[in-house]
Amino acid sequence: MISPSSTTSQNLPPFDTVVVGGSYAGMSAALQLARACRTVLVIDHGQPRNERAAKAHGCLGWDGVAPIQILELGRRQLLAYDRVQWATDQAIDATGSLEMGFAVHCASGDRYRARRLILAHGVVDRLPSIPGLAERWGETVLHCPYCHGYEICGTNIGVLIASKSEAMDQVKALSQWGAVTAFHAATLSAAEMEELSAELKGIGVTLEESALAGVTGKAILNLADGSVRDVEALFVHSETCLASDLATRMGCETEDAGCITTDSAKQTTVAGVFACGDAARFAGNIALAVGEGALAGVAAHRSLLGLLP
Ligand SMILES: Cc1cc2nc3c(=O)[nH]c(=O)nc-3n(C[C@H](O)[C@H](O)[C@H](O)COP(=O)(O)OP(=O)(O)OC[C@H]3O[C@@H](n4cnc5c(N)ncnc54)[C@H](O)[C@@H]3O)c2cc1C
Repeated sequence: MISPSSTTSQNLPPFDTVVVGGSYAGMSAALQLARACRTVLVIDHGQPRNERAAKAHGCLGWDGVAPIQILELGRRQLLAYDRVQWATDQAIDATGSLEMGFAVHCASGDRYRARRLILAHGVVDRLPSIPGLAERWGETVLHCPYCHGYEICGTNIGVLIASKSEAMDQVKALSQWGAVTAFHAATLSAAEMEELSAELKGIGVTLEESALAGVTGKAILNLADGSVRDVEALFVHSETCLASDLATRMGCETEDAGCITTDSAKQTTVAGVFACGDAARFAGNIALAVGEGALAGVAAHRSLLGLLP
């Protein structure tokens, strides 16, 4: 394992591949390269997206297991390969090309060279700025019913409407799991409120008139008019953005949805740079991140062999 304070990184020979992000996608990519007897460095600063959730669900073989446990086992298995190295650090810049090779610069001052680069740094969630939401994120403030809906099936569920256009889809989907009450964050106009309220009424769902002002207790919703509603969980729409600007620094194209553009082999628009996991798809999960990581790892290896078109 490379120490974050190492001053010898400049003198290391280039790694076959440097992977930025050592969570589900990044470790899965690194595993394929390790098994192809290639040298891999994983740079990670230990903030996987679901770190706040006590348990992960919906991933075959890991259903109900704590995210940290899944990642620890993955890391132990990966580091058993002698060509794999790990740097606990933050990658802050990357330069280079397929022809010249790549260099990744880290916050510690270390710099690593690589023949191929895989971006698996995920995304960060931006929640509406309502007091109490962030503290309950991953516990009783949730975004994905497939990850956390089963555990609260048949209970009272709140949904914070993201926008008028998405409201009906949000509510209809969540109604599969429980009795839904809709809330808003004072971002809808009076006309939109009236229209939406009528539409929701048509499917038997109430839209609370007063805006959500804060969350206290387990999931007690405090409304602006002073009234209080108690729900089992509140679903919110989280805006996501890339956890790192390395892709844009390197000139990789990104999608309107905020993820890095890749082809079916997970190669970005910059030759020799691959991306996988949440960073390279809109709305991901663990199973998809592991699968895409495997694709990116194999593609980076085939690229090293000159076998990738
Ligand atoms: C609250 C919550 C609960 C969830 N629950 C589930 C669930 O139950 N089941 C499920 O399937 N999915 C769940 N998800 C989705 C799941 O967490 C993601 O799909 C998954 O983590 C994506 O994996 P990834 O490897 O792409 O990114 P991440 O897991 O986010 O990992 C990215 C890694 O890159 C590192 N990193 C970022 N930038 C840098 C940098 N510049 N330098 C070095 N390292 C960097 C981060 O520290 C992190 O370790 C949940 C998400 C949230 C928000």
